[in-house]
Amino acid sequence: MAKQGSRSDEADYVVVGSGSAGAAVAGRLAESGASVIVLEAGKSDEQFLVKKPGMIGPMHAVPQLKAKVDWGLYSTPQKHMLDRKMPVPRGKVVGGSSSINGMVYVRGNRANYDSWAAEGNTGWEADSVNAAYLRMEDYEGGANAYRGSGGPIRITRNKFPQEGAGMFIDAVHDTLDVPVLDDYNAESQEGVAWMQQNAADGLRYSASRGYIHDLAPATLELQSEVLVRRVVIESGRATGVEVQDKDGGRRTIRAGKEVVLSGGFVGSAQLLMLSGVGHAQHLRDHGIEVVADLPVGDNLHDHLFHALTFHATSAKMKGNPWFFAKGLAKEVVRPGTTFLANSVFEVLGFVRTSQATDVPDLQLHLLPWAYVSPNQDAPIRHEVDPRTALTVLTTLIYPRSRGTLRLASADPTAAPLIDPQYLADPADLDTLTEGTEMVRQIMASSAFRGTIKEEIHPGANVQGQELRDQILNRGTSVYHGVGTCRMGVDELAVVTPDLKVRGVDGLRVADASIMPSITGGNTNAPAIMIGEKAAELILEGAR
Ligand SMILES: Cc1cc2nc3c(=O)[nH]c(=O)nc-3n(C[C@H](O)[C@H](O)[C@H](O)COP(=O)(O)OP(=O)(O)OC[C@H]3O[C@@H](n4cnc5c(N)ncnc54)[C@H](O)[C@@H]3O)c2cc1C
Repeated sequence: MAKQGSRSDEADYVVVGSGSAGAAVAGRLAESGASVIVLEAGKSDEQFLVKKPGMIGPMHAVPQLKAKVDWGLYSTPQKHMLDRKMPVPRGKVVGGSSSINGMVYVRGNRANYDSWAAEGNTGWEADSVNAAYLRMEDYEGGANAYRGSGGPIRITRNKFPQEGAGMFIDAVHDTLDVPVLDDYNAESQEGVAWMQQNAADGLRYSASRGYIHDLAPATLELQSEVLVRRVVIESGRATGVEVQDKDGGRRTIRAGKEVVLSGGFVGSAQLLMLSGVGHAQHLRDHGIEVVADLPVGDNLHDHLFHALTFHATSAKMKGNPWFFAKGLAKEVVRPGTTFLANSVFEVLGFVRTSQATDVPDLQLHLLPWAYVSPNQDAPIRHEVDPRTALTVLTTLIYPRSRGTLRLASADPTAAPLIDPQYLADPADLDTLTEGTEMVRQIMASSAFRGTIKEEIHPGANVQGQELRDQILNRGTSVYHGVGTCRMGVDELAVVTPDLKVRGVDGLRVADASIMPSITGGNTNAPAIMIGEKAAELILEGAR
């Protein structure tokens, strides 16, 4: 079993962050026999709130619960979205964001990886990353050329979907003439399908569940509630990290071989800058000595959705405390049998707007619940419509807008400035607006057999320019930030294709921040894959 509670000060590898990628890289490195310390600012994930998939609702709706597992970050005012300061939830708990996310399991479009490779990132083409995905998966459909079984992450489908979700599949198929897919994570993603979730037997399969608790290599030591303040870089080589324990005490933890940053698109970029790696002038402005002048924090991008909620008699879920309490009581008596055993999402579609080029550019997430309106910006408990409903998140998966992440202060405990520049490129708003109109056509399909009673949000009367204006207030992050430590072979790259930080020895970044461009779909599975791949690259290099 992985060691917990110890406080060693030296290992072969020091991994910062136990999130989607960090848990995978740490678990796999330790499995090879190397000693590994994984450092995590958050607390243990051995809590009902994290382990039970359906707790995702209250976890994000109740501010007091959210504060237990989330960094509580916000964006800077988004000037193309009415100056909104939008929430940027990130897991601050063992398992990182994989412990607080929606468990939607999507690899992305194979073309995404081929385009990374075409930019010079050799080894990241779809066929190469497929090998890493095969190792990480335990897919209930069994192994084939595209899917793995026996790996640390269990992937299943909801066994008791809502009737309206099945109707939605038929409606997307009929309206857009796209195929109904058995598996959107195989050769082709285009079409509509039952969603796959990284949850099984009533348990969330976060990266920490799979790679730390279940794989549990003996040489892995997990230190939680430890904030990493900076990477120690001596004569151009990373030799360890300076940390702050819960009681405020500081230590240095030394890495005999390498330091791996897996702090996510916020944490890794922030730590690099605090350690002297970033835009030179920006670092000097904060009194930080420059080690390497690299464009850390550029290329920030994210997915954005617009939610449409319809009153539907073909769904039975109600977003009120009484309905939830009944489900909870049943789940405690018969674990794995209620909505609490599953993600809240049931169907996914990958379809094309008129702007799509070679791949589908719009993702549809269907959840059989009513949804918050107009947005979740205020840090309060938001009410949802009491009626049974189907909500479709119309999701922009290839945003053209790019933003930045910068330091607000040289203090490692201060939140950085997160500026995704949502909708800065007008084409992004065009796609979301067209996607909204497509969803309205889908929901008007006869496949629903009269069970759709009304468009609750934004409301059928919201059309044309008013719709575009409303999306500025209603658009919401899917919480898929990436790209701040971009991988590449050019001057704008922060890491090389083997994930080494340019200009510093013994230091790599392995998490969603290395994506040169975002994958077409939810980013948890790709982040875990990046962790798997990082371990492979590190172990190859150590041979
Ligand atoms: C609310 C929410 C819902 C989402 N839903 C889905 C979904 O359904 N499906 C999907 O595929 N994706 C989803 N995502 C996105 C997905 O979870 C992330 O893209 C993915 O987890 C990112 O992995 P990562 O390894 O890059 O970072 P993370 O998993 O965020 O890991 C970073 C870790 O580093 C730690 N850390 C950071 N800085 C420090 C420091 N200085 N010292 C110590 N520790 C530090 C953090 O506490 C964290 O544990 C969601 C994300 C959120 C927040």
